[in-house]
Amino acid sequence: MKSGIHPEYKKATVTCACGNTFETGSVKDELKVEICSECHPFYTGRQKVADTGGRIDKFNKKYRR
Ligand SMILES: [Zn+2]
Repeated sequence: MKSGIHPEYKKATVTCACGNTFETGSVKDELKVEICSECHPFYTGRQKVADTGGRIDKFNKKYRR
């Protein structure tokens, strides 16, 4: 058996395009996202980003209620 098949989860710093940062669990040390809970239209109540439609649509579907 080779080791390293199951990467270790650790704390990662996520940096959003809006400048917000937060921590999450990941196999990487840091992550970059284009949208987060601070700037997502669902939370802010406005459509701020329109040019990454597919990704936001996916996000919307996931968190729709
Ligand atoms: Zn953000």
